Amino acid sequence: MLTRKLFSADHEQFRDTARKFFEREIMPHHDRWEEQGFVDREAWLKAGAAGLLCMTMPEAYGGVGVDRLYSTIMIEEAARVGASGPGFSLHSEIASPYINRYGSEAQKQQWLPRMARGEIIGAIAMTEPGAGSDLQSIRTTAIRDGDHYVLNGSKTYITNGHNSDLVIVVCKTDPTKGAKGTSLLLVEADRPGFSKGKRLKKLGLKAQDTSELFFDNVKVPAGNLLGREGEGFMYLMQELPWERMMIALRAVASAEAAVEWTLEYTRNRKAFGKPVFDFQTTRHKLAECRTQVQVGRAFADQCLEAVLVGQLDPATAAMAKYWCTDMQCKVIDDCLQLHGGSGYMLEYPITRAYADARVQRIYGGTNEIMKEVIGRSL
Ligand SMILES: Cc1cc2nc3c(=O)[nH]c(=O)nc-3n(C[C@H](O)[C@H](O)[C@H](O)COP(=O)(O)OP(=O)(O)OC[C@H]3O[C@@H](n4cnc5c(N)ncnc54)[C@H](O)[C@@H]3O)c2cc1C
Repeated sequence: MLTRKLFSADHEQFRDTARKFFEREIMPHHDRWEEQGFVDREAWLKAGAAGLLCMTMPEAYGGVGVDRLYSTIMIEEAARVGASGPGFSLHSEIASPYINRYGSEAQKQQWLPRMARGEIIGAIAMTEPGAGSDLQSIRTTAIRDGDHYVLNGSKTYITNGHNSDLVIVVCKTDPTKGAKGTSLLLVEADRPGFSKGKRLKKLGLKAQDTSELFFDNVKVPAGNLLGREGEGFMYLMQELPWERMMIALRAVASAEAAVEWTLEYTRNRKAFGKPVFDFQTTRHKLAECRTQVQVGRAFADQCLEAVLVGQLDPATAAMAKYWCTDMQCKVIDDCLQLHGGSGYMLEYPITRAYADARVQRIYGGTNEIMKEVIGRSL
């Protein structure tokens, strides 16, 4: 196996902390969360108390000001144990950075420290029932009326939606202008007229509270506008490469975990008087899987290096997202096959990983859209 060169001794020490947190504070509850369809708030508070949320935010706003290798470790350690419920990375690495990067001083002071403590759960709402890939055609509007906006519309498939306290809502402040009329509004979940729909029943990610959100004449103060009016689409485009990269990193770590589980399973499972691992076809399949993971890891780590110096371009991020998630689904499918019937039983982590993996090719921009992004760069 190739040695990864990006992580320092401090990073590795942190990996140990993160690993213990997921093993002790998350996994013992995961089955129950899958049943109830959401993660307990207590887990968010514990993660906050342990300093594991919003770590890349500046210390002045409750973070630790560390680099994105720490975020990577959180993603990898969650994937390693199949902790697909907590939407920590969306909260810490997508929602908070929007506030940190585009928010006013007052907005940062108001929200980021409480997000870092896990008291406030963040979400971002772009997708609508009628618009996902084609984000420019969203229909949610926020029309200025004196010192506030009046927000109307609905969103769907929103991660952390049910638990959310603060949602970054992508809306049209000028519906006549397409992308240039798009803005981002910070909307508190307790505003009159804001309601949450049912938690959506999904193929996988069953502990994640993916929900619908509805806005019916919600009065939002003008001071809740994030950044400048009409620049929302540009902000989204700037943040998407890192969002996609995180999906790629999760993909590689999940595929790696699947290979480990399968090595262990096939060594213990006997058929025709010998371990399944001893069949040459099994070893060849696992050899292919391990190779795919290594290739993905090498590419993802090089993209990560570019992230660290602020140079990951949209096309390369799209390559990582599409290739690594395709690889993840293929490797996990092969590994599931090597589990035989057990691979179809939810008590085995491979089965959950299989169901959880499928959405990786869909959210954050579908893999077809990734190829469009790459295609435009050719
Ligand atoms: C579990 C889950 C969590 C999610 N979390 C969030 C969240 O937190 N916030 C949020 O805003 N959204 C979230 N999403 C939404 C997700 O980002 C969208 O589902 C995704 O972008 C696809 O949009 P769509 O569902 O409207 O599919 P569509 O856009 O309707 O696509 C349908 C099919 O058409 C293809 N297609 C569309 N356009 C083109 C094209 N130009 N060329 C070729 N093929 C094309 C697509 O690739 C796809 O195969 C989540 C989704 C899921 C399932």
